[in-house]
Amino acid sequence: MNLSIKPTLGMITNLPSELDYKLLANSCLTQAFDIIFETDKTIENHTKKLDEEMVWEYLQDKLNASVVLIHQAIEANMKSSICSTSPYLLLEGKRVEWPVLPGHNDKRFDEFYSISSESLVYVFFATAKNTYDTTIFGHIEHIRKIRNQIVHGISRNRLNTSELVAHILDTYTLFDGKDSWWNNLRSYYFEHPFNEGMDQGELETVVFIEKLTYAWKKIGKASFSKHFSVNTRARSYFCPYCMLPEDKNLLKKYDYKWAFLFPEKEDARLIHCINCNNDNEISRIPCPIDGCAGTVIWEEHLCLTCGKDVSNELAEKKRRINDILESLRITAKK
Ligand SMILES: [Zn+2]
Ligand SMILES: [Zn+2]
Repeated sequence: MNLSIKPTLGMITNLPSELDYKLLANSCLTQAFDIIFETDKTIENHTKKLDEEMVWEYLQDKLNASVVLIHQAIEANMKSSICSTSPYLLLEGKRVEWPVLPGHNDKRFDEFYSISSESLVYVFFATAKNTYDTTIFGHIEHIRKIRNQIVHGISRNRLNTSELVAHILDTYTLFDGKDSWWNNLRSYYFEHPFNEGMDQGELETVVFIEKLTYAWKKIGKASFSKHFSVNTRARSYFCPYCMLPEDKNLLKKYDYKWAFLFPEKEDARLIHCINCNNDNEISRIPCPIDGCAGTVIWEEHLCLTCGKDVSNELAEKKRRINDILESLRITAKK
């Protein structure tokens, strides 16, 4: 044996990373959401008044496609988590067939069989660095069952859009925690080529608020609040940054009050808007407009409850108080 020519070690190349699978998971969920969202939008904006339920019954295949994507996202999330320990745990087959000894030829990771869906769940929980409760297991199982009915048989289940939107948001929150759905959606649309040239404000007014309002209406207030770290069940306010849209029709169609006081106390001095992610300082003074019971005013000029400019009324009130104080001072001097 000629020792001067050492055969090199073979290796498994193109190993996937935690991030690769995370991006895949998020992309599947974005598509799963958009299939439902865009179709509902078409139904709503259709020239004829359509019966939503009937249309969706006809379009069950779209809902089925959404389920397949949610399932794929769940598997990618589990793989992402496993990769943080080692991507080799995702490989099926005998270890003795790994091309890692001297003289072996390299083999790409995707040329191997990967472990079955059943094994994936076991490896995921065995290697998980987060502490999960049984909820996530129930969720994984539920999606796996409805996906299998679609893929392996003729599904007799009638899926509905609210249920699927809830499953999509749950997948984000169960794997990545509160705010992950919304943060992900925001960054996806910031970078979307369709939205190039739109400034941040436009995006927030047009693209984001539409999706926030949609999800909120679709899954209901209680379920929606599980996905945010601020309490979205609390009273909501206009945000001084998002302000009021010029178009009054938009105001009727979407709910523009996405700002919440925090901390959630009587003396809260900050307001956080989930639509634009901005925090603003506010003052707790009663709104001077008749019929408005608001007590949250921004920069002494905008009432975040009724949305009206109250600078004149507040200046007038201040002037009257000063007059009273002045007259008291004169009386005291006499
Ligand atoms: Zn805002
Ligand atoms: Zn007001």
